[in-house]
Amino acid sequence: MHVEAVELRVIALPMVAPFVAAHGTVSSRTAVLVRILGNNNEGWGECAALPEPTYSEEFVDGAYLALQELLVPRLLAANGTVAASDLGALLADVIGHPMAKASMELALLDAQGRQSETSLAHMFAPHPTGPAAIVPAGIAIGLLATPEDLATEVSTRVTEGYGRIKIKIAPGRDSEFVRAARDAVGVHIELSVDANGAYTLDDAKTLAELDDFDLAYIEQPLAADDLLNHAELARRISTRICLDESLTSATVTREALDMGACSVVCVKAPRYGSWIEAASVLDHCAGIGIDAWVGGMLDCGIGRAANIALAAHPGASLTGDIAATGRFFTEDVCAPFELSGPSGCGTITVPTGPGLGVSIDAAALSKLTLRSAIMRR
Ligand SMILES: [Mg+2]
Repeated sequence: MHVEAVELRVIALPMVAPFVAAHGTVSSRTAVLVRILGNNNEGWGECAALPEPTYSEEFVDGAYLALQELLVPRLLAANGTVAASDLGALLADVIGHPMAKASMELALLDAQGRQSETSLAHMFAPHPTGPAAIVPAGIAIGLLATPEDLATEVSTRVTEGYGRIKIKIAPGRDSEFVRAARDAVGVHIELSVDANGAYTLDDAKTLAELDDFDLAYIEQPLAADDLLNHAELARRISTRICLDESLTSATVTREALDMGACSVVCVKAPRYGSWIEAASVLDHCAGIGIDAWVGGMLDCGIGRAANIALAAHPGASLTGDIAATGRFFTEDVCAPFELSGPSGCGTITVPTGPGLGVSIDAAALSKLTLRSAIMRR
């Protein structure tokens, strides 16, 4: 694409309820959107950074500034046609900011898909296997006040159609809560927990108590930079360890698997800084028989569409954080993704249109926009 202009926006999505995890509470979901224009075409990206730097270093206002001052100018200064696969080299001198970089790459991928009339799902999982037409729906449930509240919540979600339930845990809010959730959903629902790095190796005994609940995995029990202790923890508990925050690149992911720090992989393209790299991680996991799934970041419809497309990759062997829009938001910038199918077996349809396969609702976008800027070549 010959990039002529880039529009940046901060939007605010009205949330159904605040989302609480060990890393903090999100009660107002602001997000940065990127729109790249050129060749009578456009492409949209969403930056996954949360309003505050609680999941990782990036946050909405910081990402906006990095895009405006550092990243977009490098794209606009590039000569000739820029493909999504060129972006890594163009931005290589700026260290970090993976979520901001991934949002630009997504916009370029969307534009390329629109141009070639290819869906993102097909771009991520090309021939011969191709992407799935539907993906199973999974939900992440934040920290709730009591085990009883959690039991009610998980039962409701299974009835809605979710067949995979992931619950957030934190020290002092673990075994009792997980027991309540398992008792509520029964043995056939895939149940997992996410600690967002809230424990240390000294908590190994507490974490071993979770072995009783037939969990699919425990996600990110220890700090993001604590790979060796994750490998040690894996020797002390029988529940499989999945890493999320730790896996900052395809290289780190391979190393974590090689050293036994995890045996399940959460793939988040924004964390890798690249959707193309995320798809390559799914290729790698499929090639060596490692379970992997696609994680989410309280995404609006743009990021959600991209995650659903990535989750259609055959390497995504476990159900991801693929929830209906209405789980989190009362309004969005495109038509909501809905759940279909019976209790415990719900699915979400993978968009088949060119690029992201979603249409931006101009009126909703305008209503939800807090600020915007357009930058031209
Ligand atoms: Mg996580």
